[in-house]
Amino acid sequence: MTTEVSSGTRRSTDDNLYEAALCQYESAAERLGLENRLRSILRKPRRELTVNFPIEMDDGTVDMFCGYRVQHNVHRGPAKGGIRYSPLAALDEVRALAMLMTWKCAVVEIPFGGAKGGVEVDPKVLSLRELENLTRRYATEISVLIGPERDIPAPDVGTNPQVMAWIMDTVSMHHGYSIPAVVTGKPESIGGSRGRSNATSVGLVHVIVGAAAKLGIDIDGASVAVQGSGNVGMGTVEILAGMGAKVLAVSNSLGGAFNGRGLDVERVRAAVGERTPLGEIAGVDAITNADLLALDVDILVPAAMEGEITSRNAGAVRARLIAEGANGPVTPPAEEILLDAGAVIVPDILANAGGVGVSYFEWVQDLQGFFWTDAEIHERLAGMMRKAFGDVWDLHEREDCDLRTAAYMLAIGRVAEAASARGLYP
Ligand code: NAD
Repeated sequence: MTTEVSSGTRRSTDDNLYEAALCQYESAAERLGLENRLRSILRKPRRELTVNFPIEMDDGTVDMFCGYRVQHNVHRGPAKGGIRYSPLAALDEVRALAMLMTWKCAVVEIPFGGAKGGVEVDPKVLSLRELENLTRRYATEISVLIGPERDIPAPDVGTNPQVMAWIMDTVSMHHGYSIPAVVTGKPESIGGSRGRSNATSVGLVHVIVGAAAKLGIDIDGASVAVQGSGNVGMGTVEILAGMGAKVLAVSNSLGGAFNGRGLDVERVRAAVGERTPLGEIAGVDAITNADLLALDVDILVPAAMEGEITSRNAGAVRARLIAEGANGPVTPPAEEILLDAGAVIVPDILANAGGVGVSYFEWVQDLQGFFWTDAEIHERLAGMMRKAFGDVWDLHEREDCDLRTAAYMLAIGRVAEAASARGLYP
């Protein structure tokens, strides 16, 4: 048996999300004074599954695909976390994202542990039939782990409600009856929840509003830049613009659009739908992702991918408030630079927790077979996010620490309490 004892001085580079997650964990656990045995238990992923499987492509050839499902911790309840289809999906990335899910569920006090899945594939190059076959086979491979009481997947980068529907149907076919609660983020016609599609953005805006109020920034008229025009980024753009914010810039992997007087959000939405480069929208200037991150705005929302703000470009960031829509967009070395410069960073495990929040509501509704209205979902989500933001903000003031450290301390403390209550088996 090996018992790891933390030095509390783990250093992280810009380049590995798992190293970054461990670094953030160690520093909060140190500050919390977490005892060594709990510290080593909570650090490790509980289960890791790697699957390699063949799919027959449309041209008759057979391609091999590699996928993962990692459960980081299940002390507080079943494992919960998205599935990512990306050419860059790798075990370390999935491990890191599973760990973040454990802390995220604990910060917003929902009774789940953390998990994540991934398949190394670019879904954009697959036909619909290939995507469905890949999804059904991957679901079958990970079916030894998933289930409503065990581990509940959801959409993430590269997956969507249709992918969740195929997973739900596959697992249901294996059992011979419908099991809607095996995934969340499904279409409403098969047990999805009202409000799930933009829940992450809605939750993100709740914490942006909370943080902006603390900093004396009025959302009406505030200048905003958003990196990423996907589910999280575009939803956030639309809500903030609807509240009177001036969204000066939005970008995606094809580049970005800038307008100093504020972008026409409907045109941005249309360009995203048509997959037109945002810089080609009439009346905007094209902008690179690097320039977007360096804009002089009140609020910056990195909502694309991890590791976008590193020690190499953090010095150029001028936003006062940074709200992490994506998971892990600011690396630990970059965070040091930004905090020294006086920026306030609302961390991913709090900022983007609205998605898993409504996923939890979806799971509850599926299990009880009774569904809530839009108004009920929005009221519950608002209550959850405001409470979590208040808890984290208060702890950050009491402890005189940054918001990420406070969020981690809160989350790790809650998971540690559950682990202690359950004790060691055998
Ligand atoms: P998505 O696939 O819908 O969108 C991702 C966006 O990022 C796309 O617009 C893509 O073009 C853009 N992008 C990719 N690489 C980029 C780059 N280098 N520069 C600029 N833009 C780039 O994904 P999503 O669901 O919006 O997720 C975005 C992030 O939010 C991920 O980190 C994800 O893990 C996290 N997240 C998502 C949810 C959710 O409910 N969807 C919940 C919590 C966290």
